[in-house]
Amino acid sequence: MKNETTRAVIYRKNIEHNIKSIKNLLSHGTGMCVAVKADGYGTSAYYTAKVCEEQGVNFLAIARVSEGIALRQEGIKLPMLLLSLCCPEEFEDLFIHDITPFVFGKDHIKSLSEAAEAYVKSGNSFKDGKFKVHLAIDTGMGRIGCRKEEAAEQAKLISESSYLKLSGMGTHFALSDSVEKAGLEYTEEQFENFSQAVKAVKEAGIDPGICHAGASAIACARPDIHFDMVRPGIIVYGYYADQVNREYLESKGIELELKPVMQLETKVSAIRRFYPGQTVSYGRTWTCQEETDIAVLPIGYADGLLRRFSPGLKVAINGKEYPLVGRICMDQCMVDIGKDNKSVKCWDKVVIFGPVGQDGALQDAENLAKLGKTISYEIMTSISKRVPRITEE
Ligand SMILES: *Cc1c(COP(=O)(O)O)cnc(C)c1O
Repeated sequence: MKNETTRAVIYRKNIEHNIKSIKNLLSHGTGMCVAVKADGYGTSAYYTAKVCEEQGVNFLAIARVSEGIALRQEGIKLPMLLLSLCCPEEFEDLFIHDITPFVFGKDHIKSLSEAAEAYVKSGNSFKDGKFKVHLAIDTGMGRIGCRKEEAAEQAKLISESSYLKLSGMGTHFALSDSVEKAGLEYTEEQFENFSQAVKAVKEAGIDPGICHAGASAIACARPDIHFDMVRPGIIVYGYYADQVNREYLESKGIELELKPVMQLETKVSAIRRFYPGQTVSYGRTWTCQEETDIAVLPIGYADGLLRRFSPGLKVAINGKEYPLVGRICMDQCMVDIGKDNKSVKCWDKVVIFGPVGQDGALQDAENLAKLGKTISYEIMTSISKRVPRITEE
């Protein structure tokens, strides 16, 4: 598949650079759980997981059991934390593939304990005697987790099971990537709530295990609330968490240079002369005003080049930017390269986004996100399955 025109190049050395840079921000002993969910934010969970293993990362975070199974089948040995809840039919896969789930709620914990019992009684065993789980606390995200008032009781339910072991507690912030007053205050409130939940579990005589709360923004900017482990995602892939950007971190005396990991590229598949009055693509939204040459690119919204990028998208060919014209189709789109452009030939490389300055990219996924009124996360995870991921050292 190396020769496919439309492809995503994954710079492994940028993943490595980002992980090393993040590690530099952590105090000695603070663990790192790298989010490789959604196929490593579209970059490839496997490549990222490999780098994580080489770099001594402690945990991988996934969102679906199937993501964990795929990584195990590819030989990844690191402990895995499942961030979303899974259904009872998937419990056995957790046991078989040694995936540590977030749990909460009496019924969920009871049914997991019963499934673990059945698993053991049918002749299997767990590596550490019991099956490890992390208790999820909802401190204000409004997603999964029990309330802080229920933490001790639910921790007790876990620790009283002969088949389960409480090996961690976690929560998630809703506004940690905001540096405005309201954001900082809400994060403080959530931090307090989580601290109280952990304290209540300890006071009930139960070891809470590894406590973790923060994702990328906290990992960068708030060493005071790292607890035992942080769970960075987006910064591993080379983008800052919204307002917790390079300038903000610099103002706090924190140096963090990130390198985007993914480059989306294609090739010019045809160059065609257009004359005044001719139109390009569905809906005829663009009309040729003066004679020009239009380059056809074999990339479209089915590859993840969102339809809402037209109009406005610019792409890079041999170091210059050219504007998209007309609507993006499912598999193709067109750019105006100007009449008799000597610097663009058929099958020349076209870079949509990537690490600026590294290999021809003139914009990164964050620049593109602004155009599409979204975030870098969505730009990367939208790159679809049919786009092959190619690793470059
Ligand atoms: C996705 C996710 C993360 C990583 O978030 P980033 O903002 O990419 O760092 C961490 N924890 C949980 C629970 C998540 O869902």
